[in-house]
Amino acid sequence: KTRVRFAPSPTGLLHVGNARTALYNWLFARHTGGDFLLRIEDTDLERSEARHEAQLMEDLSWLGLGWDEGPDVGGQYGPYRQSDRLDIYARHTEQLLNEGKAYRCFCTPEEIEAERRRAAELHQPQVYSGKCSRISPADSLARASAGESFAVRLRIPERPLRFHDLVRGEVEFTSESVSDPVLVRSSGVPVYNYVVTVDDALMQITHVIRGDDHLSNTPKQVAIYEAFGWPVPVFAHLSTILGSDRERLSKRHGATSIASFREMGVLPEALVNYLALLGWGAEDGKTETFTPEELTRVFKLERVTASPAVFDWDKLHWLNRHYLKQSEPQRLAALAWPHLPLPPADSSSPALQAWVERLIALFLPALDRLDQLSEKTQFIFRFDETAAKQNAENAPLLSSEIAQKVLSAFAARAAAFSGAVTPEQFKLWMNEVKAETGAKGKDLFHPVRIALTGAHSGPEFDKLIPVIEEGSQLGLSILNIR
Ligand code: GLU
Repeated sequence: KTRVRFAPSPTGLLHVGNARTALYNWLFARHTGGDFLLRIEDTDLERSEARHEAQLMEDLSWLGLGWDEGPDVGGQYGPYRQSDRLDIYARHTEQLLNEGKAYRCFCTPEEIEAERRRAAELHQPQVYSGKCSRISPADSLARASAGESFAVRLRIPERPLRFHDLVRGEVEFTSESVSDPVLVRSSGVPVYNYVVTVDDALMQITHVIRGDDHLSNTPKQVAIYEAFGWPVPVFAHLSTILGSDRERLSKRHGATSIASFREMGVLPEALVNYLALLGWGAEDGKTETFTPEELTRVFKLERVTASPAVFDWDKLHWLNRHYLKQSEPQRLAALAWPHLPLPPADSSSPALQAWVERLIALFLPALDRLDQLSEKTQFIFRFDETAAKQNAENAPLLSSEIAQKVLSAFAARAAAFSGAVTPEQFKLWMNEVKAETGAKGKDLFHPVRIALTGAHSGPEFDKLIPVIEEGSQLGLSILNIR
């Protein structure tokens, strides 16, 4: 049975890169009928926070990536939080020291730094000299008992370290390029490479799927497996995700956290579909829309690409539009609510609910994300100073003689009117304006559209006016005719 894990450090939000790692692990487990574990890597106590852990779980759940074992649901290989496993690591360190596979390193930070500087001057690889590896076991024990502080280092074997990577093929590191790695710092805190290996082995992980920023850590981890005589899992190192400028994707490229996508009104199935395509492609080389169920059926690790993927907003938007159009109106209304100027409590009113559903349906064809509703519908809810200014900026379009005529004819009628504008009323005005000015088609409707909605395009008036009218009966919408 395959067993994979997602092992985030709870030091911040879940971002695109890690979310893709989680997704590929989840898809691989679901595709192969294996187990997907969530393990919290919180040995960095200073930077780890419970609220980040809770948020990570919330984000994973929102994406629909449920785990079979984890800190909250338990499992037979727990605990699943590294800070609860310190005694396990300590036991294993004892074992390695007793077997001579690891040794105590008494070098001070200054000594290590001096070694590093010397190596740099000589243009040699900056690896630890292994000075303390030559201390006899008796001396080592005596110095430790006398209270001298020490780190624990693994003896790296003098042969190449190899492992199989499903994305990169055979990978080999020469032993000269790998220092005897520190397993436990002199502070007593075990390091990432060590605890991750102990956990992956004890939790019987068969495939380690993670970002390729960990590629250079892997030989050290392989050496740790070998020191314990544990089977080495299969690795799959996923390529880096780049921004449009082909630099590593980061905050500089705008929103990249899963929470921010959710807040923007990206649907989880769209994001999952998008993340799946970020470094993986279907066998037929062309299908791009996949529900999570379809993905679990067709996802194969062998088709993960080694070249970096570029984050592409247009594609994410395209997928989001695809899923928005397929969504139930009720669901959309609930998700859109925070982006509309409506009191949250009013969502329990059936009349309002129905109106919001109609409103969304009007704008849906032009929506990449639900948060865009806020700007696109603002003219329906209030007379907005800024919107009015923007309309004025469209003035070149409105300043043609015919546009001016249309606008003043329309405004004259609107100004003399109070109350909700019914579709019949609107039609009547437009007919009168047409007769009075001689404008028709685009010449007639375009100036009115810009003046009323502030946009060049949008829902047809025939559909828009009834919704506005209904909204005004609910006391919500107004038609900004000034
Ligand atoms: N805690 C590590 C990280 O978040 C896990 C890496 C791994 O999967 O081994 O980068």
